[in-house]
Amino acid sequence: MQQQTSEQKKSIIDVWNKRPLIISGPCSAETEEQVLATATQLAATGKVDVLRAGIWKPRTRPGSFEGIGAKGLPWMAQAKKLTGLPIAVEVANAKQVQDALHFDVDILWIGARTTVNPFSMQEVADALKGVDVPVLIKNPINPDLELWTGAVERVSRAGVKEIGLIHRGFSSYGNTEYRNAPMWHLAIEMKRRNPGMMMICDPSHICGRRDILMDISQKAIDLDFDGLMIESHIDPDKAWSDASQQVIPERLGEIISGIQWRYETTTEKEFLYALEKFREQINQIDDELLLLIGQRMKIADMIGEFKKNNSITILQTNRWNEILERAFNKGEALGLSKDFITKYFDAVHMESINHQNKIMNS
Ligand code: PEP
Ligand code: MN
Repeated sequence: MQQQTSEQKKSIIDVWNKRPLIISGPCSAETEEQVLATATQLAATGKVDVLRAGIWKPRTRPGSFEGIGAKGLPWMAQAKKLTGLPIAVEVANAKQVQDALHFDVDILWIGARTTVNPFSMQEVADALKGVDVPVLIKNPINPDLELWTGAVERVSRAGVKEIGLIHRGFSSYGNTEYRNAPMWHLAIEMKRRNPGMMMICDPSHICGRRDILMDISQKAIDLDFDGLMIESHIDPDKAWSDASQQVIPERLGEIISGIQWRYETTTEKEFLYALEKFREQINQIDDELLLLIGQRMKIADMIGEFKKNNSITILQTNRWNEILERAFNKGEALGLSKDFITKYFDAVHMESINHQNKIMNS
């Protein structure tokens, strides 16, 4: 392993502490030309602090491109030399940590499919013992803050000092507007639990498509995230992975320039900013509630079809009492009054009945 000089170490810490921290580069390193051209064009925007590229790609299904492997590391080292920008790659096991460090990768990140697995996390953490390299930890693919916290603890116990978080959204079943549901309140809770720990947002993997990257980036900045990791490719539509979410470097520059950066100045502004953050959280939770209620109605529709085909009545009193009783019990623990639960469930129930009525009589 090449030992970093203290000068190199100091400059990566300067970059690490920069706000906002902007990381960009292709989903995957594909060819030397692609890596170098993307890096040069990104550097030319003047908006990027760190170059990223996936070298080993954990893909959901076998048979797709699984990363170029260690032979892509010298390309990244070359990109660093050409642009002066530090480099970051994803690591998922001990060998990958060693290979990345051998090529002086400046920042390592742990992908969502690794954070989710305690065995893999422990292996990576063990490989990081005695190594002074900053590590970014993405949220696990499922909405579980304990797994995310556990990953942070493993890396921290290995002695890593610079640890940051990346919010990349959470996997959910069925088609939604996003590739990975942002569930902002979880990222906010993780921030609350880890005061002072950098939290950046990865809009690319939340959106899964390039047209809404700007909106999600702005939202993250409004919620006081410390930076962004956005995928960029010289020819996005021809990318070997995540083609639909990547943008050309020029567009990346436009997105970063288009964001309204929030700065704290006067007390009044601080107050308005804090208020806006709370309102943003409320909006996010309302959006998620609406999405869930919409999903509930879809299930009610399916039950309607089923009842129709089996000639059963819509209203089943026992079932309704059971729903209310469950909700009272759960609601009480959450500080929700019986009166509210009753009104809320009456409204939801009426909407369900209306939906089913339409189906029964269609
Ligand atoms: C990636 O950054 O290209 C990646 C694989 O992301 P995630 O771990 O968030 O799926
Ligand atoms: Mn990707």
